[in-house]
Amino acid sequence: MSAVVISISLKNLATLGIRNTEHLHYQSSPEELIQDTLRIGEGTLNDTGALVICTGEFTGRCPKDKFIVKDEITSETINWNDINLPIGQEYFDIIYKKITSYVNELPELWVRDCYACADPRYRLNVRVITEKPWSNLFAYNMFLRPEEEKLENFKPDWHVIATPDLKLNTKECGINHHNAAVISFKHKIILIAGSGYTGEIKKGIFTVLNYILPQQKNVLSMHCSANIGEKGDTAIFFGLSGTGKTTLSADPDRKLIGDDEHAWTNDNIFNFEGGCYAKTINLTEEKEPEIFDAIRHGALVENVCFYPGTNKINFDDASITENTRVSYPVHYINNAIEPSIGGLPKNIFFLTCDAFAVLPPIAKLSPGQAMYQFISGYTAKIAGTEAGITEPRPTFSACFGAPFFPLHPGKYAQMLGNKMQEHKVNVWMINTGWTGGPYGTGTRMKLKYTRAMISAALDGKLDNVEFEKHPVFGIAIPNTCSNVPTEILNPKNTWSDKTAYDAKAKYLAGLFIKNFEKYATGANPEVLAAAPII
Ligand code: ATP
Ligand code: MN
Repeated sequence: MSAVVISISLKNLATLGIRNTEHLHYQSSPEELIQDTLRIGEGTLNDTGALVICTGEFTGRCPKDKFIVKDEITSETINWNDINLPIGQEYFDIIYKKITSYVNELPELWVRDCYACADPRYRLNVRVITEKPWSNLFAYNMFLRPEEEKLENFKPDWHVIATPDLKLNTKECGINHHNAAVISFKHKIILIAGSGYTGEIKKGIFTVLNYILPQQKNVLSMHCSANIGEKGDTAIFFGLSGTGKTTLSADPDRKLIGDDEHAWTNDNIFNFEGGCYAKTINLTEEKEPEIFDAIRHGALVENVCFYPGTNKINFDDASITENTRVSYPVHYINNAIEPSIGGLPKNIFFLTCDAFAVLPPIAKLSPGQAMYQFISGYTAKIAGTEAGITEPRPTFSACFGAPFFPLHPGKYAQMLGNKMQEHKVNVWMINTGWTGGPYGTGTRMKLKYTRAMISAALDGKLDNVEFEKHPVFGIAIPNTCSNVPTEILNPKNTWSDKTAYDAKAKYLAGLFIKNFEKYATGANPEVLAAAPII
């Protein structure tokens, strides 16, 4: 790195209150960050050369510890609720001082300039300052990477400061636990203290973009993956965590645009990120070859375990967490397009992991049903390792991503509704969850069948088949689908006890109706008519 670039970067840090510039690593290469991590004893290389680290106490996001500073910019614009938690400006000042003085005492510091948004019209420059070299590698993998000659004129729009080992005092800082992620729209700073979970960094910037783009640029931001077919047809896949966005967007027959965060403008779909962040639990080369092959030198693998005495990852081992992850630059997927921009979408998929085995594995939605489902944002998770819990746990999360959407869900829903109408997009609901009975009785839908159903929809093979209406949810179930056994298309057929199916379908419908009550006043008749019927 040239001396000029470094000195510019240092001057900017001083204005932030950071004076620890003696042992500062600016814009380190992935190789340097890997070596730094190994040197400080916080990582190991696996047998394919990827860096394996542990993120510490936190191995997932902490929604209860994420705050937005309530000030003159945000007080009237944020949809304050139990997810968009406010924090006073006085506390932001205290936490900010704590972090900068902590940073000034650190033996080393890593600083990276990067950006979000593949479409240059919306580019957001981000400077990420990290206590750990591996957090910095995450930023390299996940954000877009500016060319070196452009760095001299790099002006950060936003700063992220991440200090996993700093524990805050709850009372003094006005927070709930010793860790916090705090977003200030006034200072354009995200502070992350006490958690090493790297996902906080990317979801922090995602939250910022979900505020800026719809509010200030009239652009719809979305929690979805996207890919594009040979004919230039874009598809987008909405879904909550674990429903299959990353897995299903990595498709050998289609080019990947991105796996998690996108915007829909008047003329394109673009990715916010420069990388993917895939789950690795139960990963196999056979089922998910693209992701498996991306785990190589430069990739950062989190919270996995090795087979004893080896450096071979045991992907089935969930002893640290179910949420084992790998981040890698998007071009680690062979057929990713760069820049990550595609045309306007022809197909939208709503992915849900319904552990009740009620929803069909594929169904076509009317415009009203599409809006109803988007606002509902349903999935059901299995209880996992919690003792004694055998029932799936339903989740409703508006826009399939409530924790990252600071504006009222109606804002995003209305923008999506207008776009769907204008562009006559097909909307499909895909249940990647259970079939043949609920969790405990049935099994998860085979990935190969889900992929076949999505391919059939994308290839127009469902355009001329017959559909039947689901008696409770009203959505249209195809009678046949190529490469999928016909008997699994209607979920009731897969249950041995048909009465139990009807009861479960009614139960789930009741949950939908109850959840929708809070949106009912603002919704139009077409959307209201799309509610399930008990
Ligand atoms: P996040 O928002 O947390 O990144 P995501 O929507 O990207 O979540 P994935 O990472 O794609 O979720 O996770 C889906 C998981 O479910 C993967 O581990 C995948 O192997 C597994 N899976 C099993 N069966 C299916 C199926 N039929 N369809 C999709 N995924 C399946
Ligand atoms: Mn994902």
